[in-house]
Amino acid sequence: MGKVVMAIIVTIVSLFLIRGGLPTLGIILIVAFIVGSIFGKKKSGKTKKCQYCANDIKYEAIVCQYCSRQL
Ligand SMILES: [Zn+2]
Repeated sequence: MGKVVMAIIVTIVSLFLIRGGLPTLGIILIVAFIVGSIFGKKKSGKTKKCQYCANDIKYEAIVCQYCSRQL
């Protein structure tokens, strides 16, 4: 949800800046947001810490991929 709010704010600010005569800054903001969202999606997938070996594992995991213990 936070990312959606950020997207809306960035879009509004960017459009405002473009209309206000600062197109370069607006375009930079839009590009920065698009790049950020792409990288954000690549990293998406919540993780949690295994209570046995303390490695970061997928949030949905039932068995730890590192120590093979059932969570
Ligand atoms: Zn583990």
